Amino acid sequence: MKNLFLVLLVIIGSSARSQDSLYARLVIKKLTSKECFGRGYLNNGLDVAAKFIASELKRFKAEPLFATGYFQWFDFDVNTFPDKMSVKINGKLLKPGIDFIPIPESGSARGKFTLTKKDSITFVADNSPVPIGLSLKRKLTFSVATNSVNVCGIEVLNANQYKELKTIDLNVESKVLTKYINKNICAYVKGKTENDSVIVMTAHYDHLGGIGKKTYFPGANDNASGVSMLLNMVKYYAQNPPKYKMIFVFFAGEEAGLIGSKYFVDNNTLDLTKVKFLINLDLLGTGDDGIMVVNATEYKPQFEKLKKVNESKNYVKEIRQRGKARNSDHYWFSEKGVPCFFIYTLGGIKAYHDVFDTEKTLPLTDYGDVFRLLTAFIKEL
Ligand SMILES: [Zn+2]
Repeated sequence: MKNLFLVLLVIIGSSARSQDSLYARLVIKKLTSKECFGRGYLNNGLDVAAKFIASELKRFKAEPLFATGYFQWFDFDVNTFPDKMSVKINGKLLKPGIDFIPIPESGSARGKFTLTKKDSITFVADNSPVPIGLSLKRKLTFSVATNSVNVCGIEVLNANQYKELKTIDLNVESKVLTKYINKNICAYVKGKTENDSVIVMTAHYDHLGGIGKKTYFPGANDNASGVSMLLNMVKYYAQNPPKYKMIFVFFAGEEAGLIGSKYFVDNNTLDLTKVKFLINLDLLGTGDDGIMVVNATEYKPQFEKLKKVNESKNYVKEIRQRGKARNSDHYWFSEKGVPCFFIYTLGGIKAYHDVFDTEKTLPLTDYGDVFRLLTAFIKEL
């Protein structure tokens, strides 16, 4: 009898625990689907993702932050590769994303040229109307540029160990989309107290989009994982009213240079003096080696609190600390003196800003524990 009770407890416990990661899987699958096309600037991918997030917020009955709804619009120019994307080296066709990528600010070029070696990893095309540069890389890491240059730059994975690079035959078309409309998505859940302090949680939902007609960067860890955690938080706090008002912001434009969060901070969207604490989440899909806290050394009492909360229940393996870093959307808030942490998980996978950052290979190792650590920490704030 006693044993049966124990078994039941374990079953109930683990199913309650798995709920958050089951929902996370659904969200990450949706955000990494072809329909969202890397949550960038081709095929309406960013917009499909935004509509999905807004519909989830509505479903959880989170209040819109603005009289006009959840969205805060802004725009910027962005360089894209919407059409042709083919590269042959020595006559052999390469796969976009896997064997080669353009540099983010690359211009267009087409034709067949002989290559001249500049050094062991750098080559240039002879007699091309537009300068063409090729560099060999050990890993391909894509990014987003807000402008294009009059040079076609191609990065080729050197796993093939080319003996000799003789010719390049390419068709690369780049196009700058001017004033591309982006939107931050902002919601809140009312607090139980009259106090006008707020807790803010943020995560960017944009990623790198795609190159050519078929290839896109899924961005499962970066940052469909963080978005899923934020939606899990909205769901949780909508059912379990928090002490303070909680504001949830899903930023766009992060990969293009933290543009969405800059817009949010610069446009008096919030009275930042009322922010008791802000937690930015990016890359939350692993946790095999614990978590990293950026700004830990800036906000020591809060960091000690986080560690104490973790020690009380042994949620995550290790909490490591860093100082300030301009590496995600917390940065502009931090610069304005808003107390904040940027938290990311450590270990697990190597994929980063490439076509291999997929839902299938994302382990979500310590997802549930990170969720419980964060909610327990917020309770203590
Ligand atoms: Zn990111």
